[in-house]
Amino acid sequence: MLTVEDALEQILARTPVLETETVDVTRALGRVLAEPIVSAREIPPWANSSMDGYAIRAADTRGGATRLRVVGRIAAGALPSRAVGAGEAMRIFTGAPLPDGADAVVPQEDVEADGEVVRVPGNIAEAAYVRPRGEDVRKGDHVLSPGQRLGPAEIGLLATLGHSPVRVHRQPRVAILSTGNELADLGVEPGPGQIPNTNTYSLMAQVTEAGGIPVNLGIAPDRLEAIEERLRWGEDADVVLSSAGVSVGELDLVREALTRSGAELHLWRVSMRPGKPITFGSWDERLVFGLPGNPVSAMVTFELFVRPALLRMGGRPTVERPRLVARARAPIPNPGSRRGYLRVRLARRDQGLEAELTGDQGSAILRSMTLADGLAVVPGDTTVAVGECVDIIPLREF
Ligand code: AMP
Ligand code: MG
Repeated sequence: MLTVEDALEQILARTPVLETETVDVTRALGRVLAEPIVSAREIPPWANSSMDGYAIRAADTRGGATRLRVVGRIAAGALPSRAVGAGEAMRIFTGAPLPDGADAVVPQEDVEADGEVVRVPGNIAEAAYVRPRGEDVRKGDHVLSPGQRLGPAEIGLLATLGHSPVRVHRQPRVAILSTGNELADLGVEPGPGQIPNTNTYSLMAQVTEAGGIPVNLGIAPDRLEAIEERLRWGEDADVVLSSAGVSVGELDLVREALTRSGAELHLWRVSMRPGKPITFGSWDERLVFGLPGNPVSAMVTFELFVRPALLRMGGRPTVERPRLVARARAPIPNPGSRRGYLRVRLARRDQGLEAELTGDQGSAILRSMTLADGLAVVPGDTTVAVGECVDIIPLREF
């Protein structure tokens, strides 16, 4: 049986990076940059005041406190009407350009103003409360690189630089198919022998979190032609994701339906728990994944195999989550020879992170995913004893 690492390597080797498109900066949150951003501007464009106060010449204050003549007033958005000479000051507000001749600002709370005259303290430092031209960004600075995910700060910087629209990678379109005679879809009360369709919705959410665009292909019953027909609905997607029906039962028809639709299957069965049966293949330009049916297995195999592929398609250079290390608060057993990806709660303690199983690790127990901060990675036939370290894949902030 394949290791998780080998399976992921095979998947990523066949995963293309999608082409690029341009989007308005207001729509670019979460997208992945596909061009280097080089500033065409100086930010700020001119030296300006960081306080409300008086623009002065610092040299005038070398002899101690002094009285200066106020020769004008300059607000943000205006230009100074004249320069500041020796013995002079100009009223200035935050963000207003520093007038020629002035080289410092004295905050208004530090002065005594009396009509046309202002008394300022001695020994004001040159450049006090002055934001110099280009202190944030110089023209020609390389400020953002391809592969960076655009968060609020990057969006703000692009707007500051006037760089809209911006070139980003296209988001993968991911068609999601659930299979099984027993499934009743959301909005339909399950009849006798039926269970609610979970996977379509958890997988759509995982796709969205991984930067993809989910497309719901609904539910196919366990009949070859029905599965084939639904799979064809995913023809204009970049990725087709099905769940269930990939095991060895006589109603496990997904692999055959994929092959009959023209997909070439590259792997099946990975040594892991939960989730052993998983299929990956290519179908013309598309990638196809057949994930296991149990809700936790579907989510965990998505996390380990589909998420990295979607990040790669979307232009991200790093596709695996950063790992953490935690100490076991109670024993974490992994009976059986396959590597375990076990749901754990995490807690921060003075000595570092502590991990504890969420409870029963059955692959149909979805509630345990809602309780899990991460997955503990435990080798086969191993019990992590209390206080021992274990690798963690974090699934969320905690
Ligand atoms: P299978 O691989 O088809 O044998 O499915 C394994 C288990 O997952 C069975 O108990 C199915 O009822 C369950 N299952 C399959 N698909 C879904 C789904 N979309 N939502 C919830 N449970 C499912
Ligand atoms: Mg089934």
